[in-house]
Amino acid sequence: MENQEFDKVIFCGNIKDFPAIFQNSLAIEAYHKPIAELEYHGTTSVLCKMTKNPFSWIYLPDNKYFSHRIICTGNFAVSNNKDKNISTCVVEFTDYLSKEEIQENLAKMPFGINYIAHNFAEYTYPIQSKATKDMIINLKLTVENDNVYLCGRFAEWEYYNMDAAIKAAMVLLDNID
Ligand SMILES: Cc1cc2nc3c(=O)[nH]c(=O)nc-3n(C[C@H](O)[C@H](O)[C@H](O)COP(=O)(O)OP(=O)(O)OC[C@H]3O[C@@H](n4cnc5c(N)ncnc54)[C@H](O)[C@@H]3O)c2cc1C
Repeated sequence: MENQEFDKVIFCGNIKDFPAIFQNSLAIEAYHKPIAELEYHGTTSVLCKMTKNPFSWIYLPDNKYFSHRIICTGNFAVSNNKDKNISTCVVEFTDYLSKEEIQENLAKMPFGINYIAHNFAEYTYPIQSKATKDMIINLKLTVENDNVYLCGRFAEWEYYNMDAAIKAAMVLLDNID
């Protein structure tokens, strides 16, 4: 896409990358600092085996569990588990945990959870301050003058779930020709 020209650009990536990507085409220096200061959480997602169960999501509102929820991905399709006696899931922990910390915490959990593999994603939950919404709205208005649009969870720094992210894209498309 380098050196190609477009009538309109919809940026769906992480707004923290936005200033560097558009540094030669947009006058948004005033936004560099507020964008750099935006706060967020990451997530450590752990693929595990678990005992058979009828659940899709299990939430754990208890201080004794460091993980906040188990996503029972093994139950999402019959074809997900070859071994009919066990199931699989993703255990989520807020922010970074080492493999040792993960295993220590899994050992305390119910449902016979057993580690398979894990991944840490740095950007998973945008955190808004009182100033965030206004800053993003003003940035959007500024860049829209140059036919650049921000859309998505980390592009708009909005705590979108899937349905809200899809709606935001549909609304944006309805509003630009
Ligand atoms: C840990 C976690 C759990 C979640 N749980 C749920 C849930 O249970 N239910 C629910 O409804 N939603 C959930 N969500 C939210 C859901 O994943 C998001 O709402 C949705 O993915 C947001 O879509 P998006 O298109 O805005 O962003 P993304 O899905 O993040 O898509 C952005 C895309 O842009 C790409 N990209 C970034 N930078 C560039 C670049 N410079 N050039 C090209 N491509 C780029 C990225 O690789 C990515 O593919 C969860 C999210 C996380 C992180």
